[in-house]
Parts: sequence; C-alpha cells; structure tokens
Amino acid sequence: MLRTKIREILDRDSAGDDVLVQGWVKTRRSSRNVTFLQINDGSTLKDLQVVADESLSNFADADSLTTGCSVSISGQLVDSPGKGQRFEIHAKSLEVMGLADPDTYPLQKKRHTVEFLREIAHLRPRTNTFGAMARVRNTLAFAIHRFFQERGFLFLQAPMITASDAEGAGAMFRVTTLDLDQLPIKNGAADSAEDFFGEPTFLTVSGQLEAEIFALALSDVYTFGPTFRAENSNTSRHLAEFWMVEPEVAFCELDGLTELAEDFLKYIFTYVLDHCPEDLAFFNQWYDESVISTLEGIASSSFERMTYTEAVDILQRSGEKFEFPVHWGTDLQSEHERYLTEKHIGRPVIVTDYPKEIKAFYMRLSDDGKTVRAMDVLVPRIGEIIGGSQREERKDILLERMRESGLDEQNYWWYLDLRSYGTVPHAGFGLGFERTVQFATGMPNIRDVSPFPRTPKSAGF
Ligand code: ATP
Ligand code: MN
Repeated sequence: MLRTKIREILDRDSAGDDVLVQGWVKTRRSSRNVTFLQINDGSTLKDLQVVADESLSNFADADSLTTGCSVSISGQLVDSPGKGQRFEIHAKSLEVMGLADPDTYPLQKKRHTVEFLREIAHLRPRTNTFGAMARVRNTLAFAIHRFFQERGFLFLQAPMITASDAEGAGAMFRVTTLDLDQLPIKNGAADSAEDFFGEPTFLTVSGQLEAEIFALALSDVYTFGPTFRAENSNTSRHLAEFWMVEPEVAFCELDGLTELAEDFLKYIFTYVLDHCPEDLAFFNQWYDESVISTLEGIASSSFERMTYTEAVDILQRSGEKFEFPVHWGTDLQSEHERYLTEKHIGRPVIVTDYPKEIKAFYMRLSDDGKTVRAMDVLVPRIGEIIGGSQREERKDILLERMRESGLDEQNYWWYLDLRSYGTVPHAGFGLGFERTVQFATGMPNIRDVSPFPRTPKSAGF
C-alpha cells in the first residue's frame, strides 16, 4: 500500500477505506487496553488520531510509544466519535520505525521558546510553529513563481559569485581560495591575481544588474534566489543570507512598476490566504492577532500613492513625536513609514520620487534634477516591503550619477554598454522573501522564518 498524507485523509468526504499512514508521534494516551496516538507527517497542522488495541500482535510496542517516535500504521479510516476531528484510524498493523528516548528528546509536549528552538534547528521543523512556517513559506514561493509565470515573465538565475559590488547595497562577503594563513602579498595587500578568479570576488547582494541585462533582451524577467549581506547588525529583520525576488521590466516606467507591485502583493497574499487557512489561523492565534486581517486588508484595498515630498509634509504636520525628526532630504525611518501606512492612510502606500542623495546611482533622474523615480511600497506592521525604481537609461546622466557616487565606471562598462545599444525605459523592484514570510506569519524574528538562518556568529546546521 502507498503512504497517504494526513492532509489528504482529512480532506476526504467519507471514511471506510484502508490507508497507510507514516509519521511521528505527537502524543500518546493510554486507557486500559486501548492506546490513542496523535500522528503528524508535516502535510498539515492537524494530527491524525490512531486507535490501537489488543488485537495488534505488538500492542505492547504501541502502548509504549513516546513523543517523537516514528511509526508506520495501516488500518481502516473510520468516523471519529471524539471531539475536534472527523476521522480516526483503527490500526490493523503498526511498525515502530524509530524510537525517541523521552529522557533526552528535547521536544516534549509543551510550548518551547523560539530562542530554545533555534538551538535545535534540526528538530524544530517537527513543531507546529515551524511546520506552519515551512508550509506558508512554500506556498508564498510557489505563488511568486505563479504570478510571474502567468504574466509571461522569464525566471532568470543570477550568479551568486560576482566581481562587482551591485549598487553598494550592503557589505559583501569575500569569496576566495587563497590560503588565509599564507596570503600571497603584493604591494602590502593580498594579491588577487593569484586568486581563483584572478580578481577580487564576492557573494552577490542583488541580482538586479544581471536582471537588467536580460530584461533588455527578453523584456520581462525575474530573479528569485539567495543574496548575501555581511551587515553586522543583529536585528530581528536582517539575515546574512536571504532570498530576494527581483522582477525587471523593459518598456516600463514608474507608473507601470507601481501597478505591477500592487498586483503582485495582492496576488501572493490572496494566494496564501486561500491555500494556508489553518496555518494562518495558527499564527493569528499564537503570534499576532492582526495577521489575517492585515493580509485581507492588502488583498482587498487599493494602494495609496504619494510622493516623498508629500509624505514629508504629512509627517511634519502630523504632530507625532518621532524618535528621528523628518525633513526633506532624510531617509524615512520605519516609524515614519508605519505612521503613513497605519495611521494616516490605513492602507498600503506607495511612496515615489525620493531625493537622489538617498537613493542608488541607477535610479532615473527626474527633470527637477533633485529627485529620482524610486518607489517604496509601505505596508502596515512592517513599513517598507518593496523597494524599486525606474532605471536610468540615458548614458550621459548615468555616467554623471556614477561619478557623483564615487563608482569606478570601468567596472560597469557592460552596464553602460546597455545604454549605448538599444536602450529603453525599464524598471524593477526587490522584495525580501523572508520579510514577506515574516509579514504573512507575524513571526517577530526573521531567524524564525528561515529554515537555517545565517546571522553574525551563527552558521550552525
Ligand atoms: P534595510 O533598510 O531594511 O536594511 P535595504 O534598504 O538594505 O533594507 P534593499 O537593499 O532595498 O534593502 O533590499 C531589498 C529588500 O531586501 C528589502 O526591502 C528587504 O525586504 C530585503 N532585505 C534587505 N536586507 C536584508 C537582510 N539583511 N535580511 C533580510 N532581508 C533583507
Ligand atoms: Mn540594509
């Protein structure tokens, strides 16, 4: 018999069939000559109840199972007289596959802190929280691909090793095969000519520049892959390794990009609401009671649009006491972003046209000479969830912006080339995937929405 997933069993219309179920014991309860097992196989938050009695030749084995043991059970699916479950299985055979010594198995039936669970990242997927997180993460990843594939975007894999510091978005990890204990030295520094690639190389901070290359040939592309930042900031919103979604669209200006961003967020959050109702209800109950209402709010509301200049004006006249004062020319802090979206508008807000000084060199300069065609999408509870821009497609202006930013144009010769040959208006944005999962689950710490978080002084598992 083939294994049936518990999720599929619980979705059935009626009982009666024999099924084979394999999974891990959550709890066991024994009463005289009957044993009740709660089994989970990760396919759903819900456990399946198995009833075993003395008709089993190895009833004693079943009766001594403890939390964490793995089992293979076949039996008949019947309607359950118990509360809170429609079906249960009456075991006809039960095989104990692996024991889990209750004296040492760390996941006993009680609530553990997320901090403790990080220390046992090899076992935490067996908890309700991390099972639900993994399913929501999976569903969001699928929704992201679906959204772009339905619209004819091409999935592009950007390189992880790079010789250029894309936009100076963050501190980079060096990639080298040089022997750090016996560095070849030239002019007082490590001699990169002897390194694997013959020049200094790093882990990428963004796939954007490569996405632009393909967008300027294939029109609509997106990357979705790991990016790395060696920022030594131990915050609840930063990882050293995280996944980023970066669509890039040719023949597109800023208005087209804001529409794409709005459609995109509505699509993926509607998708997760439709496909993970139980897991979201779990997060809503245990972690943040506004998770579902916030997701529904995004899915159903139309996003407000305002310029940075308007936003600064609103913030200055708000009468709020902000930790960081606001004036034209400063970057908006998370407290400002949250005020705009949560208190002032009460819906997601897209802020556009930021001062060029606080944005990257590749963003398109506006006619005022002071602002660039950038956009940030702000949502309740976290502030910025997407950052993007129309790119500078005019070579002379791009060159000037690179010089102003102190970049070496030699390193970007190919990026400039794109502006010499068949340049077109194009635009794109970046969405941090873990921040999105954080948003959809209400998990306070980004370390708990990544299967294996990498943070300063921590790369275990
Ligand atoms: P922040 O100000 O929060 O550090 P950023 O301005 O450095 O963000 P971008 O360079 O615009 O972010 O990167 C695009 C997206 O990637 C961000 O909107 C965010 O969702 C995500 N992101 C950036 N840095 C990290 C990080 N260290 N860990 C996880 N996600 C990140
Ligand atoms: Mn950053």
